[in-house]
Parts: sequence; structure tokens; C-alpha cells
Amino acid sequence: MKQHSVTIPMHARKRIALVAHDNKKKDLLDWARFNRENLARHELWATGTTGQVLSTELDLYIQPLQSGPLGGDQQLGAKISVGEIDILIFFWDPLAQLPHDPDVRALLRLAAVWNIPVATNRASADFLFSSPLMDSTYPREVPDYESYRQRDIP
Ligand code: PGA
Repeated sequence: MKQHSVTIPMHARKRIALVAHDNKKKDLLDWARFNRENLARHELWATGTTGQVLSTELDLYIQPLQSGPLGGDQQLGAKISVGEIDILIFFWDPLAQLPHDPDVRALLRLAAVWNIPVATNRASADFLFSSPLMDSTYPREVPDYESYRQRDIP
């Protein structure tokens, strides 16, 4: 079945969102320390506490959002939906029950809706960051949601 799509170009300088749940913040910090020079070439956003840890430890400029459970995840989801984030690095904790689980799911859902690359752990972040596409433009294909917008309402 043919599905229409539209292309949204990603530039070489990516807009990257960084989020880690508390039990995963050390993992993300270790990963980010190893990839500091790569990260510094891009535009960085993060939920509040994650951003504070990374910017203090690595001396990187990261645009801060609200802390995740206080609305930061939703701010990121909103930014994805208007095309302001290209990549999501989200080390979420599969072993913790978190009060903002609906926000976590919503963020991952919107990343899927808009075909945003997502890394959820160190291995996937390593694979993502070793891609040559990180430093080139990329035509991100997104389903054409126009027919959804024009759908019949019963
Ligand atoms: P934090 O939020 O970076 O403010 O800790 C992360 C999250 O739990 O979504």
C-alpha cells in the first residue's frame, strides 16, 4: 500500500535532546563524556536535571528545559511535533516505576510519529553516533498526515 510522505531535511548540525532517568544519569554522563567533542558540534537540549549534570560536568552549553517530571518531557514532545528536535537520546529506566510514565510514553510516541531517531541506552547511542549521517544532511521522511487532518468526523 502506497503511503504518501513528506521530507523534512535534517541539517549537519543536529538539534539533539538529552534525557536520562535518575538511575541512568551516570550512564548518560559517561557516554556524553566519551562523545563530548561530537556533542559540542551540535545544538543540545535537555530536561532540567539531566542538563544541569551534563553541562556542569562536561562544560557544555545545553539549552535547559523544565525537569522531566515537571513538564520537561512534554516540552520535548512539543518541540518534536513542530520540527525543532532532530534526535532524541533518552536513557529511560526499565526497572523503575515513575510518576511521569505517561509523559515518558508520550515522548517516545511522538518521536515515532515524527520519525525521529531515538537512542535508549549506551549501545544504541554508540551506534547512532557512529553513523556518518550524524555529520551530514538527511532527508527525514515523515508520513503525510494531511489525509488524517482532512478525515471525516462522524
Ligand atoms: P530530569 O528529567 O532530567 O529533570 O531528571 C528526566 C526525566 O525523568 O524525564
